[in-house]
Amino acid sequence: MLVAVTATVRVVDGVDRVRLNAAYVRALEGAGLVPLIVPPLADTDAAVRILDAVSGLVLSGGEDVDPSLYGDTPHPALGAVNCSRDVTELALLAAARERNLPTLAICRGIQVVNVGLGGTLVQDLPSQQSDVAEHELDGQRATRVHGVSVEPSSRLARILGSESLDVNSIHHQAVDRLGDAMRVSARADDGVIEGVESDDPDWWMVGVQWHPEELTATPEPWDRRLFDAFADACRAGVSSASTSLPSALGASASPASGGLEKEAHR
Ligand code: MN
Repeated sequence: MLVAVTATVRVVDGVDRVRLNAAYVRALEGAGLVPLIVPPLADTDAAVRILDAVSGLVLSGGEDVDPSLYGDTPHPALGAVNCSRDVTELALLAAARERNLPTLAICRGIQVVNVGLGGTLVQDLPSQQSDVAEHELDGQRATRVHGVSVEPSSRLARILGSESLDVNSIHHQAVDRLGDAMRVSARADDGVIEGVESDDPDWWMVGVQWHPEELTATPEPWDRRLFDAFADACRAGVSSASTSLPSALGASASPASGGLEKEAHR
């Protein structure tokens, strides 16, 4: 089961390189998924065509979203932005929404989803909100540093099997005003939004502000459950597509027989 995972391009050792933390690859493979890594592309139509080949979309962590995309001016504490990545990911999100393609949004990803659906962001938690805990603990990527309360009726609560958990925290921004057709599924103990999800039962979209991909090897099961639920949604999307299209059943059988034919011809 192929899933698209967004990546960035940045200069490392003087060379522009495509980058994605390997933790995403390991976590997705652990859930039985095969990641297809999608960097920012100049041609957003081409980027969207990649979604034809996959069963799900993962929006990964990274740079701050350009505040002009949500009608704000840059705060002095705004971090690095990557406009081509913003454009590519917003196009992928819109297409995933249109197709009801299962979407897992992580860290920057939850922020991209919120902006794409019309919401806004807090550009820098420490300088813009009082009484917030430290949320940018980059040196403790695989450590559960703060608590999160999950909305009892949310999809996230069903996935995690819990209404409270502890998570890592590697962000200085957060969801501010919520976008359309989505709801808050989780908050940190200080009130910072740590989870959102789609209001539409037909669109599996789960966003988290923490980094579950860094926590799948911990004793606690929550983060493995999140990736497993995403994998289940990807499989369910494929099976519902093939049951609604009888011809797809025939099409799905043909690659195997085609393969045998090729073998025979050799
Ligand atoms: Mn946090």
